[in-house]
Amino acid sequence: MKKKLLTTLVSVMTVMFVTAGCSVKTAKQNQNTKETEAVSTASQNSYTSIDKLKEKYDIIIIGAGGAGMTAALEAKAKGMNPVIFEKMPVAGGNTVKASSGMNASETKFEKEQGIKDSNDLFYKETLEGGKGTNDKNLLRYFVDNSASAIDWLDSIGIKLNNLTITGGMSVKRTHRPEDGSAVGQYLFNGLIKNVQEKDIPLFVNADVKEITQKDGKINGVKVLINQKDEKTIQADAVVVATGGYGANQDIIAKVRPDLKGLVTTNQPGTTGDGILMIQKLGGTTVDMDQIQVHPTVQQENSYLIGEAVRGEGAVLVTSKGKRFVNEMTTRDAVTDAINKLPEKSAYLVFDSGVKSRVKAIEQYQKMGFVLEGDSFEALAKKMNVPADQLKTTMDTWNSAVKNKKDAEFGRTTGMDKDLSGAPFYAIKIAPGIHYSMGGVKINANTEVLTEKGAPIPGLFAAGEVTGGLHGNNRIGGNSVVDIVIFGRQAGTKSAEYVKAHKAQ
Ligand code: ADP
Repeated sequence: MKKKLLTTLVSVMTVMFVTAGCSVKTAKQNQNTKETEAVSTASQNSYTSIDKLKEKYDIIIIGAGGAGMTAALEAKAKGMNPVIFEKMPVAGGNTVKASSGMNASETKFEKEQGIKDSNDLFYKETLEGGKGTNDKNLLRYFVDNSASAIDWLDSIGIKLNNLTITGGMSVKRTHRPEDGSAVGQYLFNGLIKNVQEKDIPLFVNADVKEITQKDGKINGVKVLINQKDEKTIQADAVVVATGGYGANQDIIAKVRPDLKGLVTTNQPGTTGDGILMIQKLGGTTVDMDQIQVHPTVQQENSYLIGEAVRGEGAVLVTSKGKRFVNEMTTRDAVTDAINKLPEKSAYLVFDSGVKSRVKAIEQYQKMGFVLEGDSFEALAKKMNVPADQLKTTMDTWNSAVKNKKDAEFGRTTGMDKDLSGAPFYAIKIAPGIHYSMGGVKINANTEVLTEKGAPIPGLFAAGEVTGGLHGNNRIGGNSVVDIVIFGRQAGTKSAEYVKAHKAQ
């Protein structure tokens, strides 16, 4: 029976994934379209029925993305009775859309594949990616616990043993599913399967409006069920895992007016609710103006083209058919380079080898994003770029790969294989709002902090709702590991807190 429910759920998510955001131009329109789709494709049967809702739980987890589901699993493993509230008609959040993979260092899969890596190197490169502005305590905890996060996932049936690389990293530490498919859908399927097997209640259409407090301690939430019934539910601790604010145009307009109106890859529930609720309780925020604009977004559908496409070899070319940047530098630098082009857009160009190594490309093809040609000249015609120039660009690139030297832009990674296997492909892209680096301030125990640095008793947060870890530029592949590491920590620490609380 459970298996059947899961199958229904997976197909619902797949439909959402495939149809996400048809004919959208702005973030606002995007929101409306996706909401309609979510409502029309949601299956109520896949989630806990509302008549099972109790008045009290040990721990309430707000948000059923990767961080929330991970926290719930750890809390349950520590003997707690957690519940998950999700405001959308389906679970998964932005997690389900994550494409590139999960970064981790010193893992058993790296060792098996002879990849030399260290936690210190992972720390150094993440800090460089964030221009030294990352919260160093969080970052240290993060790199030191990345390998155990990979092991923990493996122990619950989520195996990420196919390694690739993302911009700003020097070694292959981006862990993907064995078949090279997008990490988000696979991770989500595995987490929700475990949530269901462990009988953790997960209510959708359960929009948490307020976190309540008594005598300075968190004691529950007010949640709006099915947009009409407000219920007060008690708990000894609350874990906020509500994701970022990339789809909240009001917050964007306030913290980054220059980004107003840009398309977003975020799902419509990404509205910063957790941050606003935590601020009301005296919790503080960091880096709210740090919003990641992803360089490669298909604009008509606000659809992210994952970094693995470049990691596996693709190059970026202008409308004149020329390369213009080291494609494997950090996301902010690639975005800047695209924005400096007169057309403010570019083409990802790759070959059949890249296509075979990045399963997500099949999805991009189904959605109609991918131009194809038997030769670079034929592809150039479809792209409407000068054929001679594209051919010269690609020949130069293939020699650079052969000689392991990119004299033009100094690229050193994602060059294992050249781009010589016909047919050839191109996808037109431009930047879009992708990720909120800013958020609520936590310590490495995932306790939410006040401006003075004091934890708010009983209040924990994990995932994109938090700020500081990534500094002012997140490295691709670091958000998936963030939600697993700090989701686990939030489940563990909230459970410890509740046990101590009960013992008093
Ligand atoms: P993370 O990657 O940090 O886990 P996600 O975006 O994957 O973040 O998941 C966050 C989830 O939280 C989304 O499914 C979102 O719809 C949900 N959410 C956001 N605000 C609320 C709220 N007020 N009540 C319940 N769920 C919420």
